[in-house]
Amino acid sequence: MTAQRPPLDIDPETVKGFLHPDEGLALHDAALGVADVGAVLEVGSYCGRSTVWIGTACRSTGNVLFAVDHHRGSEEHQRGEAYHDPDLFDPEAVVMNSFPEFRRTLERAGLNDVVVPVVATSALAARRWSTPLGMVFIDGGHSEAAAFTDLDSWAPHVATGGILAIHDLFERPEDGGQAPWKIYQAALASGGFEALPQVRTLGLLRRSG
Ligand code: MG
Repeated sequence: MTAQRPPLDIDPETVKGFLHPDEGLALHDAALGVADVGAVLEVGSYCGRSTVWIGTACRSTGNVLFAVDHHRGSEEHQRGEAYHDPDLFDPEAVVMNSFPEFRRTLERAGLNDVVVPVVATSALAARRWSTPLGMVFIDGGHSEAAAFTDLDSWAPHVATGGILAIHDLFERPEDGGQAPWKIYQAALASGGFEALPQVRTLGLLRRSG
């Protein structure tokens, strides 16, 4: 894969999140390879761990990363749910808010001139979108409705030769939620993508001509 370590300003493991370094490196390398295809967009930035990996690649190539997240947390981040983090809860507004932490990550990682934060739902951000994308990374809500909204919103914008990446693939229900796996299968079944080797739970697809 890469001969050299990516020029990361910070260790992504110091950023709250759920992305394994092997998956981060795969995203970084995929983003490096699509600089001539188009801009990069991720859905579900949370505190910016994947943003550091992908953004660093975009910085190297002069590309731009659009980082879409409403920053109100997915289903599993809400109070009382399995992945709730009280540090990211705004008690005054009584909502989750991961945006301040996300901005701190951009600052620390030297990515303010590379990443365009889009603080909106995926559906709203996509409504008038027309920029061809070299890579889309889907790591948003894991309900079936949220996952299919992300797929339907962004997969059509992946340009020929571009990459569609999907996090948290679990083939067997006993290993994890099925929505990411279902959208991965749906993308494959559409005939517009071919599968690349999976990296842990990260699925990678390339838009075929
Ligand atoms: Mg994930």
